[in-house]
Formats: sequence, structure tokens, C-alpha cells
Amino acid sequence: MTPLPFDDYHALSDAECQARIRAARQQLGKEAVLLCHHYQRADVYQHADLTGDSLKLSRLAAETDSPHIVFCGVHFMAEVADIMSRPEQTAILPDLAAGCSMADMANLAKVERCWRELGEALEVEANFTPVTYINSAADLKAFCGEHGGIVCTSSNAGVIAQWAFGRRPKILFFPDQHLGRWTGHNMGIPLDEMRVWDPDLPLGGLTPNAINQAKILLWKGHCSVHQMFNKRQIDAFRARHPDGIVIAHPECSFEVCAASDHVGSTELIVKTIKEAPAGTRWLVGTELNLVERLAREVAPQGKTVQFMSDIICMCSTMQRIDPRHLAWTLENLAAGQLVNPIIVPPHEAKLAKLALERMLALR
Ligand code: SF4
Repeated sequence: MTPLPFDDYHALSDAECQARIRAARQQLGKEAVLLCHHYQRADVYQHADLTGDSLKLSRLAAETDSPHIVFCGVHFMAEVADIMSRPEQTAILPDLAAGCSMADMANLAKVERCWRELGEALEVEANFTPVTYINSAADLKAFCGEHGGIVCTSSNAGVIAQWAFGRRPKILFFPDQHLGRWTGHNMGIPLDEMRVWDPDLPLGGLTPNAINQAKILLWKGHCSVHQMFNKRQIDAFRARHPDGIVIAHPECSFEVCAASDHVGSTELIVKTIKEAPAGTRWLVGTELNLVERLAREVAPQGKTVQFMSDIICMCSTMQRIDPRHLAWTLENLAAGQLVNPIIVPPHEAKLAKLALERMLALR
């Protein structure tokens, strides 16, 4: 049997699409579980069985019993679900084009070249622990597994960095320079001991002396969504609302994090605002879908939640998981057809799992 063609779904109205998603879910029952990241669009998020940030979803993927894990997030998240789930389970990404622009800023060839070049400046395996943000491809997690390294998320980067420094004196952190810098700053590491490694320049654009003096090398990568926030937006908010509170995600630039009252993962942002006293006013620097959903949820308690940027900045790649792709995926599953499975090669999955399990063992 051939899969139902996606082209047939273009013409569906929004209402038809939603009705067909519900019908397919009912037919599938426990055969499929839907995991949704906080940044997911509302018309998909409403169907979630389980929601969370990357850390929470990686744990949930390991705990679910359903044979099919439909991941409404981006590619690296579905890879983690595949790695952490049991062999008989399948992770599915409704649109394979749902990638992460930050994850794409580092690849195995460039990280291996970096490792080689560092090896020319000093004894790399004795000096550097490689730490990859979970927002990275499975082969980079495998690289960390193989080289005594580890994975981190925005929730646990501090704990992970302490673990890494307990093994070797320096960290190579990829692909998000901002999370790495904020984490190092919170550990008391001066900014001039955290140097940016530019993968497109020989020796990362650094001198051997600069590498020797650095505690953390920060890969030159960033999130295109979180780089849209700036200190001017915070200053304008504070001028208008002197009692307002600012909270930002650590993928934001250093100056945004430094100017915020709180910095933390999406889970921490949600928890902090939900637990805040009634009547408080918030400026939030993270993805728009999450901020709008949170604003609606806490409005009845008299809390005001405002998006940090004056222009729209959504995770456009995660937006690709739309109701049409979800309906197509679920109806194929209900018809016994598997579409868009995410399968990490076994040797890579084994090493990536090692790096993920080192992380999960820490908290
Ligand atoms: S918000 Fe940024 S880091 Fe997160 S998935 Fe989207 S592009 Fe990647």
C-alpha cells in the first residue's frame, strides 16, 4: 500500500483538517502519542498529549509506552525521541523540513575539524570537554559521547558545565554561543576567558595563546528567533512600567540576559510567571507562540504578559508542523502507513545516548 499523498491535504479547510486530526487520533488511541514543544503553534499544540521544553520532552520520550511518538517540534527533538525510546517504538516528524537554524550552524565535519585544530594547539582530549546544547544533530551528540562529553539543555547548562569542568579544565561548547556565555558568566568566568570559535576561520579565528587562556570556547552559533530581542526593548518597557519584570531565555544575547530580572528555560519562564503574584506585569524574551499562550493563561489572574520584540519572531521552522501535515501523518498511521520516521543510525544512536544519559543522570 502506498502512503496517502500529502498534496491531497492542501485543499482542506482548517475546520476539516481539525476534524480529521481528531478522528484519526480517536482511531489510533494509544497507538500514537503526540509530544509538543512549547513553541508549537496553537492549532497543533491543542492536540498534544504531552508538552514541555527540550529537557522535559527528552525524559517523556523515554517514558512513553505508545509504539508511535509523533513529535511536533523540530528535527533534533525527534532524533532525541528516537534515541531515547525503545527499539520497537518509532519517532515521527510530521514535516521533515522542520529543522532548527541554530542546530544547522554546527555540523560534524566542522566540529571534527575544530577538534583537530585544537589538537594542534594543545592536548585536546586532556584539556577540553565537548558540551553540545540539545539543539544539535544526533551525530554531534555522538561526538560528545565518544569524546567524554555531554549534552545540556537551557534548564541544566550550569550543572552540566560544572560536571564538564570536573573532568577537564576547558569546555568546547556548541552550537549556541549565547547559552554558553551566560552559563560561564553565572559560574564567575570572565568574558575575556570565553572566546568565540568561528568555524569558518583557520583555528577558529583565534591564536594558540588565546586558546590556552580560554576556559570556554563558544561556537559561533545563535538562535535566529532569540537574536531579535535587544536591550533597547527592555529599556523602553522599564521606562513605561517601572514595576514591570523582565524574563528572558538564555539563547538571548548577553546584554539582554544581563538586563533581565530573570533568565531561564521555557519551563522556568512558564513556572515563574504562573507562580507570580496577581497583578504583576511581565516582558518576556522568548518565542511568540509560547508568550501568547502564557499571556492568555495568566490574564484571568490580572497578570500582563508582553512580548519583548515589536516585530513578530516565531520559530518559523517549527511552524512547518501545521495541521495539514499532522492530519496527513495521523491518517497514514491509522491506515497502517508510516510516513517521516526519524531513524538515527544505530552506532550514532549508541554514542549519542551515552552523552544524553550522562546529562539525565545529573538531574
Ligand atoms: S527557537 Fe531557535 S533554537 Fe529553538 S528550535 Fe527554533 S530556531 Fe531552533
